[in-house]
Amino acid sequence: MSDTTMEKIVSLCKRRGFIFQSSEIYGGLTGAWDYGPLGVELKNNIRDFWWKEMTQLHDNIVGLDASILMHPNVWVASGHVSNFTDPMVDCRQCKSRFRADQIDLTASCPVCGGKDTFTEPRNFNLMFETHMGSVKDDSSVVYLRPETAQGIYADFKNVVQSSRVKIPFGIAQVGKSFRNEITTKNFIFRSCEFEQMEMQYFCAPGEDEKWFDFWKGERMKFYSKMGIREKNLRWHQHGEDELAFYAKDAYDIEFNFPMGWQELEGVHNRTDYDLTQHQNHSKKDLTYLDQETKERYVPYVVETSAGLTRNVLMVLSDAYEEETLEGGDVRTVLHFHPAIAPVTVAVLPLVKKDGISEYAQELEKNLRETFATFYDQSGAIGRRYRRMDEIGTPFCITVDYDTLTDGTVTVRDRDSMEQVRIDAASIVDELNKRIRSYHRG
Ligand code: ATP
Repeated sequence: MSDTTMEKIVSLCKRRGFIFQSSEIYGGLTGAWDYGPLGVELKNNIRDFWWKEMTQLHDNIVGLDASILMHPNVWVASGHVSNFTDPMVDCRQCKSRFRADQIDLTASCPVCGGKDTFTEPRNFNLMFETHMGSVKDDSSVVYLRPETAQGIYADFKNVVQSSRVKIPFGIAQVGKSFRNEITTKNFIFRSCEFEQMEMQYFCAPGEDEKWFDFWKGERMKFYSKMGIREKNLRWHQHGEDELAFYAKDAYDIEFNFPMGWQELEGVHNRTDYDLTQHQNHSKKDLTYLDQETKERYVPYVVETSAGLTRNVLMVLSDAYEEETLEGGDVRTVLHFHPAIAPVTVAVLPLVKKDGISEYAQELEKNLRETFATFYDQSGAIGRRYRRMDEIGTPFCITVDYDTLTDGTVTVRDRDSMEQVRIDAASIVDELNKRIRSYHRG
C-alpha cells in the first residue's frame, strides 16, 4: 500500500460520507474528525463486534462505562501527570513545534528551512486540562482522560463487590480518550480525540504469564474473525527501551497501513502496578481475597488496548481495492466483512414501472428488522451496483419482471459479482448463511 492509497481512502471517505474533517466550514480543526452517515455505522459495528466478542462470548468479562472526567489524583497515581510526556522542540524562527524523537535535530527545520533554530527538547504533557466548577485556579483542574484503562482500575472494587465476579475476570470498556498530539498526520490514525476499546483482565500473581499468552492468541484471532487478512497483521514485541518500567512483557499487534506497519493494539502484562498505585494514593484497600485459597493479594493485570478509530482506518485500508475487470474497466470496492459493513443489503428494482418498485420497497421494509438495508431505484443497474461496491455493501437484491410471476429475486455478491436467483421467501436464511460463512477470496 502507499500514500496514494491513503489519499484515495481519504477522498472516498469524504465523497461517500464516511469521515469528514471536523469544523470544515471554519477551516477545520487539526486532529479532530467527524464520522458521517456511513462512518458512524461502520464504527458502531466494529465496536459492537468487539463488545460481543469480549463480553458475551467470553466467560467472566463484564462491561463498564466510566466517566471521561475523573478525580485529578487518578492521573497522579497512574503516573500520567508526571510521565505522560513527549519530548518537544520549537523552531525559534517559524515557531513550529515538533516531537524531538521524530525529526533530525541536526538537519534544517522541516517547515521554514532554518538551521540550528531548534530549542532544547522539553517534556510536554499530552493530557488536555480543563477546569471544573466556577473558579478557574489550580485547585479546579481536571483532565480529559488520555486512556480508558484508569476508569476500570478506579472501579475495580465496585465491580468486585457488585457483580460476584471471581478472579480471573475482566472488565471491558469502550470510550473516548484525548491526547494533545503534536503529530496528527495520517488521517484518523493519530488524532487528539479518539476512541479506545480496552479490556483489563485481573488474575492471580503467578498466573499472569499464562493469561498474557491466552489473550495474545485471542486478540489476533479476533482480527481474522473480523475479516482482516493475515498478511497485513504481525506482532511486535517491546524491546527493553520501549517497555514501560512496570510492565513485564508487552506486544503490539501491528497492521500494514498505507503508510507502513504501525501499532493497532497493545497487549500488556501490567503486573500489579496500577492497582498498587491506586491503593497507595487513595488509601483504599484494593486487594482481593481468594475464597478458595484464602489468600489475599493485589491482582495482576493483562491489558488488551485497541484504538476503535484506528480500527476504522485499518478496516478501510484492508478492504480497499481498485479492481481491474475484464475489458479494462476499474471498479472501486470495499471488501468489508458483512458483519461490520454499514449496509448489509441493497434492494434494487430493475425498472420503476409495473409494480416492480412497489414490490421492491415492500421487500426492503421487510428486511429492515434483520439487516441494515438500502433502497435505490435511480440510474442504470450497473451504476447502482458500483455505488454499492464503493461503500462495501456485500449483497444486492434485484427485483424484476420474473419476480412478479415466480417470486424469485437475484442476489448479487459484491466480491465475486456472481448473481443467482433465489426464492424471495428465503432471502433472510440465504444472507445469514453467507454472512456466517463469509471468507474473502
Ligand atoms: P503511540 O506510541 O503511537 O503514541 P501508545 O503506545 O501511547 O501510542 P497506547 O497508549 O498503548 O498507545 O494506546 C492504545 C491504543 O490506543 C493504540 O494501540 C492505538 O490503537 C490507540 N491510540 C493511542 N493514541 C491514539 C491517538 N492519538 N489516535 C488514535 N488512536 C490512538
